Amino acid sequence: MAIYKTANADETEKIGRALGEILPEGRAVALFGDLGAGKTVFVKGFAKGFGVEDEAYSPTFALVNEYRGKGRILYHFDMYRVSGWDDLCSTGYFDFLDSGNSLIIEWSENIEAALPDDCVRVKITEADAPDERNIEIIGVEKLEAFGD
Ligand code: ADP
Ligand code: MG
Repeated sequence: MAIYKTANADETEKIGRALGEILPEGRAVALFGDLGAGKTVFVKGFAKGFGVEDEAYSPTFALVNEYRGKGRILYHFDMYRVSGWDDLCSTGYFDFLDSGNSLIIEWSENIEAALPDDCVRVKITEADAPDERNIEIIGVEKLEAFGD
């Protein structure tokens, strides 16, 4: 487990990118944090690190976006509107999970019971100043260049 403090959105994006660069194939990343915490900012960086060339964007209405990079697929979920198993099944979540591709999931609070045991957990919370965030990452080694 490691906690990183960021002073602005760019720094959060950089940490996302560092995780995207080292995440083992097929692992899911579960994001936790309130509205405006910086989850989508984190995903934008993560997608770049993963090798996606297009800019990642919020899938709030689509529920899931599909990106391609370096011949691999990344599924980006937003579970904000998902409550209950029927809802979750209809997003195709379990099929995507079984597909062996990588997933990154906003509003993981809403699907806690359906997260894979080996997922990487990223919790973004507000810190002292308005643009500061604490980013707690559980399930991977400390990200290089961000150690203290
Ligand atoms: P979420 O997806 O968690 O609802 P977004 O990533 O869409 O949130 O938005 C986060 C907002 O907060 C953006 O407008 C971003 O510019 C701003 N922001 C300010 N400071 C930070 C920070 N340290 N990390 C991430 N976002 C920040
Ligand atoms: Mg978002």
